[in-house]
Amino acid sequence: MVEKILANLEKSTCAVDNTFLQAVSEVLTSLEPIIKSDPRYEQFAILERLVTPDRVLQFKVQWLDDNNQVHINNGYRIQFNNSLGPYKGGLRFHPSVTTGMLKFLAFEQIFKNSLTGLPIGGAKGGSDFDPKGKSDFEIMRFCRAFMRELYPFIGARVDVPAGDIGVGSREIGYLFGEYKRMTHTYDGVLSGKPYAFGGSLMRPQATGYGVVYFAKEMLKEELQESLEGKVCTVSGAGNVAIHTIEKLQQLGALAVTCSDSEGSIYDPRGIDLHVLRELKENTYRLSLREYAIRVPGSVYIPKSEYLEKTHAIWQIPCFAAFPCATQNELTLLDAKKLLENGCVAVVEGANMPTEPEAIELFIREGVLFSPGKASNAGGVAVSEFEMSQNASMEKWDFEKVDRKLDELMRQIYKRIALTAKEYGVERNFVDGANIAAFKRVAEAMILEGV
Ligand code: NDP
Repeated sequence: MVEKILANLEKSTCAVDNTFLQAVSEVLTSLEPIIKSDPRYEQFAILERLVTPDRVLQFKVQWLDDNNQVHINNGYRIQFNNSLGPYKGGLRFHPSVTTGMLKFLAFEQIFKNSLTGLPIGGAKGGSDFDPKGKSDFEIMRFCRAFMRELYPFIGARVDVPAGDIGVGSREIGYLFGEYKRMTHTYDGVLSGKPYAFGGSLMRPQATGYGVVYFAKEMLKEELQESLEGKVCTVSGAGNVAIHTIEKLQQLGALAVTCSDSEGSIYDPRGIDLHVLRELKENTYRLSLREYAIRVPGSVYIPKSEYLEKTHAIWQIPCFAAFPCATQNELTLLDAKKLLENGCVAVVEGANMPTEPEAIELFIREGVLFSPGKASNAGGVAVSEFEMSQNASMEKWDFEKVDRKLDELMRQIYKRIALTAKEYGVERNFVDGANIAAFKRVAEAMILEGV
């Protein structure tokens, strides 16, 4: 049955890209053993309906640069499944954005959001607009033009977009401003807003902190280990990577790496977060090359020096690895090296950063492997906390959000570990996550009827 659905999917659309098929194939393979356990899954065609988005919106975004030149980009919103609650998922602004990529991210989002146990459905959106090198006013004009096309399709109880790669609180602020102007309403239609108007405390930290809370719980329960004093490798240098490094450091671990799209840093004394932030948390993100100039003893390895199909970061011995940059950034060769060097856990911060063959190897060899849909769900969870605060006109303090996030990440770990055990695939957190998430969504789809 799974093969039939995948074959149909491949045939049905030429826009489909490999990452979408990869994500669907991973999920459906995990579900194969349980699909026969409940006749309603077939009767209600749950799998077929689950792999087909409710709506794929594509629109033209026209904007003026600082020299009054007209530019045109593609804008998208994929509303994949709203069985559990309003559509929810980030917006990505990056030149690599296509419908296929967003379909993969939106599909994953359904499962991630289900794992949180919160009432949110799955969506994703964005544009092939490249924010790099644009002025603040250009970013503002682009965001306003994007929202002018998107606003009729979203709403606080309909679809609540958030940030992702290339979309931080500045962009969310501009998008929100335009939504407010177009609709004359002031509600929680976007999450990840600046704290000054409706944002939740801890949203910027939530994904990275959540990744580490998840890792802490998994290591404690599975290996009776802690992160204290352990060498960890982290990829990426954006929101997720920075806050993963920060929380690792707070828990006494030594995070020795970071990377951007041009190269990697190895700093054996531990990443200097102050320097990393100075380079990356400004309008014109600077190259990590600069880090090695400012921090003696650190090494910069340009991407051009990597061997084919390997990444410098994963060659460095570590106790635990945290891929936090982008999809398919940890290959089979990288996985072999991590194993050889004694890595005991791989905790995904990015969405689908590990290639399927590498995941198989980790699971086969007993490395604790957590899929992003489980370990990076802290971001969307705090986004939902923001929706709750907006709806009740409340403001929660930092400690409350942090406590709830920690508790929620521990619950996600427990949910997927127990599910894996129940279905005879103990410690396979990929299957555990897919099955646990699916059962919740499928039940809602059945109860809501066709
Ligand atoms: P950012 O845009 O803040 O950062 C992404 C980082 O990854 C940048 O440092 C970027 O480098 C780097 N990067 C991009 N491509 C590559 C590459 N090919 N090789 C190495 N580094 C690369 O994004 P986020 O931190 O927000 O997101 C990172 C990942 O986490 C994404 O997969 C996202 O979908 C996922 N995620 C994010 C959430 C969030 O709350 N932000 C929530 C859940 C998942 P450069 O600076 O050169 O572009």
